[in-house]
Amino acid sequence: MSFTLAIVGRPNVGKSTLFNRLVGRRLALVDDQPGVTRDLREGEGKLGDIRFTVVDTAGLEDANDDSLQGRMRRLTERAVDMADICLFMIDARAGVTPTDEMFAEILRKRSDHVILAANKSEGSAADAGVIEAYSLGLGEPVRLSAEHGEGMNDLYSQLMPIA
Ligand code: GDP
Ligand code: MG
Repeated sequence: MSFTLAIVGRPNVGKSTLFNRLVGRRLALVDDQPGVTRDLREGEGKLGDIRFTVVDTAGLEDANDDSLQGRMRRLTERAVDMADICLFMIDARAGVTPTDEMFAEILRKRSDHVILAANKSEGSAADAGVIEAYSLGLGEPVRLSAEHGEGMNDLYSQLMPIA
């Protein structure tokens, strides 16, 4: 059985960087595929021997400030509903923000399987943010650096049981 992983979180935390890393050269852009809009980018993900569908919540970059909050909420709800499992990403260097808390609330209510990822975790500048992430009530955060490819083994361990 294969599964669908949705990467959600506020803008600029590193979602697309992780998406690109998981999809690698197997990128299948599916703008024209029925049921998938440009706001949700879908690709064929691969991590070790695990294959899955990965969904990136893109399309927030061009929203103006007034509409951003509602747009984030709606897009995230759509991604959660099409996914078997959500990877909720925060920026460990920035720490937990009120917007992250809004996302956590959506996920606690709407998704029954969430992996919490504390991204940008390379180096000690992220240590405080990783500890703060426990306050989101979504369990132990996975320390990731999507840009540098760190923590992918821990992500693998989280995905393996459902693969
Ligand atoms: P998105 O808006 O959540 O999709 O975030 P992006 O993937 O576009 O990344 C936002 C910014 O964070 C870019 O400048 C990335 O290069 C940077 N970034 C992504 N992952 C990491 C990471 O692991 N460490 C650091 N230091 N920067 C990162
Ligand atoms: Mg993005």
